[in-house]
Amino acid sequence: MHKEIDIKIKDALAQDLQKGVPILLKEGFNDIASLPEGAILQLRNPAGKFVGKGYVGMQNKGMGWLLTKNENEPIDTHFFQKKIATAIKHRVDYFNSSDTTAFRVFNGEGDGIGGLTIDYFDGFYLISWYSEGIYSFKEMILAGLEASVSYKGIYEKKRFDTKGQYLEDDDFVKGERGEFPLIVNESGQKFAIYLNDGAMVGVFLDQRDVRKKIRDTYSKGKTVLNTFSYTGAFSVFAAAGGATKTTSVDLAKRSLSKTTEQFEVNGIDAEKQDIIVMDVFDYFKYAKRKELAFDVVILDPPSFARSKKYTFSSSKDYTNLLKDAIAITEKNGVIVASTNNATFGIKKFKTFVEKAFKDSNRKYTIEEEFSLPNDFRTSPLFKEGNYLKVLFVRAK
Ligand code: SAH
Repeated sequence: MHKEIDIKIKDALAQDLQKGVPILLKEGFNDIASLPEGAILQLRNPAGKFVGKGYVGMQNKGMGWLLTKNENEPIDTHFFQKKIATAIKHRVDYFNSSDTTAFRVFNGEGDGIGGLTIDYFDGFYLISWYSEGIYSFKEMILAGLEASVSYKGIYEKKRFDTKGQYLEDDDFVKGERGEFPLIVNESGQKFAIYLNDGAMVGVFLDQRDVRKKIRDTYSKGKTVLNTFSYTGAFSVFAAAGGATKTTSVDLAKRSLSKTTEQFEVNGIDAEKQDIIVMDVFDYFKYAKRKELAFDVVILDPPSFARSKKYTFSSSKDYTNLLKDAIAITEKNGVIVASTNNATFGIKKFKTFVEKAFKDSNRKYTIEEEFSLPNDFRTSPLFKEGNYLKVLFVRAK
């Protein structure tokens, strides 16, 4: 049973929740110490009026999420089933697609339950739990999912501090175990996916539209540099789109075998591509020294990264990253600048571009702008959830 707690919150939070803001910000509470993970809160304004029900699940700035504004709606299997069924209706085109078999089915607060995402990989479902609180609803959420879909197998990722308790785990939940790599389709390309091998499964689904654009419009006959390349997903699409050569740079050692595998499952000869295990910031220095220049340079760094020599924070250092990229971009080349940092918006991101080109004495035009694809539903009242910003910038 989930503990139910009747609690008065500060007026500012009560007003936000009434408008439909989904997050329960810590500062809206007088005392959070007494609220256990997974408790269901009956939230009341300072005058005692009911404003909504939420659950406790600590995540960064939030201490939980709003679930319903209806006082009479129980938080039970039926509640989760309804939310999941509605989410699935929004993805019918994806379920019916023959050339894309990997997409997001449930996107946290955008689908009405913060702290929970569900992805689909060709018959397998991957549930990600972002707090111990939401994990405590596992049985109900599983029952809700199983009532809504048929599946081969279900896997999970616990993306909260488990204090090492789950180290032996291969993240399997139920159904049949997958054989990995699982080969999924995306816009006619393939990805090798591992649901049983750590937090990252092999591809970031939120860049689907960007990959397609790179393949279909920006790659033919071009040299493409893909920095922070991870498993080389952008490189695969560039090569499939007719790039003369791709160069993938990532400092993680396994990026070499992972990227090779992604090329191979797409029938692309990895030997003809460059896959370089190196710190991106060292690579920029090397490329400048060798006077290399690329037609397309892709920048998709993590929000924060610390390597042996460098610390990178996208909110502070993106302008410099762009300057490094501009220095090795051909005249009339294109820089694909991406960030998933939720702490700033597209306006600020564009000021980084403006400054970098000004400092580099080059002119530019912005040719394309992307945010999250439509399977990543967001709440208009929680803009941090709409984190992805991608600009295709033509460097004159
Ligand atoms: N662009 C990728 C996802 C990037 S994930 C894609 O579309 O799939 C971030 C990657 O940056 C990780 O693989 C990590 O190993 C790499 N990384 C972080 N700091 C780095 C650095 N200083 N140099 C090179 N790679 C780095």
